[in-house]
Order: sequence, then structure tokens, then C-alpha cells
Amino acid sequence: MTKATQSVPGELRYNCLFCNNTIEPNDLDPCALMLIARIDRSRREQKEQGFYCHVECLQRASKDRRSFYILEHDFDTVGEIEDEAEEGLPDFLPPDPSQLRKRRH
Ligand SMILES: [Zn+2]
Repeated sequence: MTKATQSVPGELRYNCLFCNNTIEPNDLDPCALMLIARIDRSRREQKEQGFYCHVECLQRASKDRRSFYILEHDFDTVGEIEDEAEEGLPDFLPPDPSQLRKRRH
């Protein structure tokens, strides 16, 4: 990650990669971008760096603004996705091997 600065103790400030202004918190900001270089190689050979930005500045820099579905108001948070996965967990559990053996006999 590029550094977040700390002008007031305990209060981190983030500067935007694109406009270099301080990012004030709002519905989606501050945002972090993870750049993964060598994405076509094995995980051990990849390099990564994080950046901070305004979502609006990232969207402005993009030629395909329609791909920003994260801006949709009902886009799920990570916690909501995890909660849904946990609710559906029994469907994803592999069958108990001891039960499989019993079925074969
Ligand atoms: Zn910005």
C-alpha cells in the first residue's frame, strides 16, 4: 500500500492516486486499489501494490464507466456476501465419506 498519512494521532488520511487530494469518507470512499502485476503467473511470482483513490476519480479515468456495478446502491458488502454464503453452507459441504462407504454396501 502507498502510505496513508496521519496528521492527527489515530486519524489516518488517504490521498487519491489520481487527483492527489485528501479523500474524505463518504458512502464508498476512501477506496483502495490492489495492483497485481504478473497476474498470468503463479501466485508466488506475482507482485502487488495498493493505492488509495476516490471511486469517482477511478471511474473518470476509465473508458468503460458501465463496469462500475459497485456504484449500484444495492451492491452487497463483503459481510452480506459472507452471510449469504454461511446461510447456504450445508449445500456446499462435501458428503461425509463414512456415509458414502455405507451407501456402497
Ligand atoms: Zn481523486
